[in-house]
Amino acid sequence: DIRLSRRVTAVRPSPTLAVTARAQQLRREGKDIVSLGAGEPDFDTPEYIKDAAIQAIHRGFTKYTAVGGTPELKAAIMAKFARDNQLEYHPNEVLVSVGGKQSFFNLCQALLDAGDEVIIPAPYWVSYPDMVILAEACPVIIDTDAAQHFKILPEQLEAAITENTRFLVLNSPSNPSGVAYSRSELEALGEVLRRHPRILIATDDMYEKILFQDQPFVNITNACPDLKERCIVMNGVSKAYAMTGWRIGYCAGPEALITAMNTVQSQSTSNPTSIAQVAAQAALEGGDSAVHEMVHAFRRRHAYVYGRLQSLPGVNVLPSDGTFYSFPGFHEVMQAKNLQDDLILAEALLEAGVAVVPGSAFGSPGHIRLSFATSDKNLEMALDRIEQFVKG
Ligand code: PLP
Repeated sequence: DIRLSRRVTAVRPSPTLAVTARAQQLRREGKDIVSLGAGEPDFDTPEYIKDAAIQAIHRGFTKYTAVGGTPELKAAIMAKFARDNQLEYHPNEVLVSVGGKQSFFNLCQALLDAGDEVIIPAPYWVSYPDMVILAEACPVIIDTDAAQHFKILPEQLEAAITENTRFLVLNSPSNPSGVAYSRSELEALGEVLRRHPRILIATDDMYEKILFQDQPFVNITNACPDLKERCIVMNGVSKAYAMTGWRIGYCAGPEALITAMNTVQSQSTSNPTSIAQVAAQAALEGGDSAVHEMVHAFRRRHAYVYGRLQSLPGVNVLPSDGTFYSFPGFHEVMQAKNLQDDLILAEALLEAGVAVVPGSAFGSPGHIRLSFATSDKNLEMALDRIEQFVKG
């Protein structure tokens, strides 16, 4: 028997990927399954982005680059932060990584020791707690529910803080809940954080561009500019430009922290793929018309999915502010059908022909995450099946 590390045995494999695998297995067995499990846009990467990468190959841009990203891509990222977020950074405060996932991994490795705590609001993106555990630190989960629109309250934050707290994670708009914090909600959290000057804040803005409201995006550095020195702003091209497979994420923050994260990256992956960096630069410099087209489709599909779910008895759904997810509560349905937990609910829905991700994967049992990053036809079919299941 191979003795594995304590570190790795404490970590769960990604539950979202497990659902996809199970749905594929049923499909191979000939079952007709509509998948609402996707965590990525169903659109193709825009043509001008692909062209930039192809040209990069032809001109031989196929060697190592600087570990933390090419100067050209960093310049495009700095311009993006200035343009979209009113944030000024120097190149030494910016790091490009192999997806947003590696940005957060680097952060945990650079910042955390055994006994440290990281405050993570639930429902959360599945990887946060496990990456904290991989760094031998302790996730401290703040539970939220639909009544508080899945957003943490200042008093909850205050109560979760201890001497060991190293940082707080904010993800808005949120995967999986789809909700976004308002400026005043962020200001209220900022007041708590001002009382605890040692605590850093990681703001994961990965879904920044996928917003349905007309107000501009705000993160905590916009709401509380005095906290910028304690913030690490995380973003990437995966969701905004339909580039999940290219694996480019980026972040910006205090130079000492970014330098330490760069060191972690230098001894693990080194630079992200040279060609993908050129593609990401083209994405960030190419304007947002392709993004707007996608958001238009997501907004329309959201209205459809939200409307259908709202009409279902026993289903408790909030409108999403952005992302391509809806996160309805199925507590009453589960009770009526005598289903013990949301894993059993997800399995029953799979039998009914729809793949979804159970809410407990995100730390919020009794819910399911539906992705509307799929065609209108699939959404209609899936919602018909869910309706039949709920009413049947
Ligand atoms: N942050 C959030 C909230 C996400 O949902 C994801 C992807 O699912 C990521 C970060 C990481 O994205 P990637 O590593 O694909 O760039």
